[in-house]
Amino acid sequence: MTEKQIVLVTACALVDADGRVLLSQRPEGKKLAGLWEFPGGKVEDGETPESALIRELAEELGVVTKEDCLAPLTFASYGYDDFHLLMPLFICRRFEGPARGLEGQAIKWVRPRDMRQYPMPPADEPLIPHLIDLI
Ligand code: C5P
Repeated sequence: MTEKQIVLVTACALVDADGRVLLSQRPEGKKLAGLWEFPGGKVEDGETPESALIRELAEELGVVTKEDCLAPLTFASYGYDDFHLLMPLFICRRFEGPARGLEGQAIKWVRPRDMRQYPMPPADEPLIPHLIDLI
């Protein structure tokens, strides 16, 4: 049996002053295009989930935050057909913005209880109840 490759992705629930969470739409041409995800991305060599997240938030959204503003919230572990995804989800309430879709992606601030209206990747969806409990 061939073991699936493990891919470590880091993701964030950015929460605004009204208790809404930012979702980012995966662009056309990417896998899972059109689905709404928690922003983040792959952890590269030499990075921690936190440092990768700080980089990704700046690159994708123009959002600046610091390591002590990121708190671990929960964890996704999901077997896609071609790899196994491990994805810590952090929560961040202190950041500088405004958030913009710098890679051409749509973004939306959504209340956790309304998130089910936005189709998400299967790894992200089970994380919603953690946010509903918290926010
Ligand atoms: O964003 P990127 O394409 O680099 O992420 C790698 C893979 O991780 C995606 O193809 C997707 O399957 C998965 N992913 C996810 N949820 C996220 C981010 C990525 O399921 N929030």
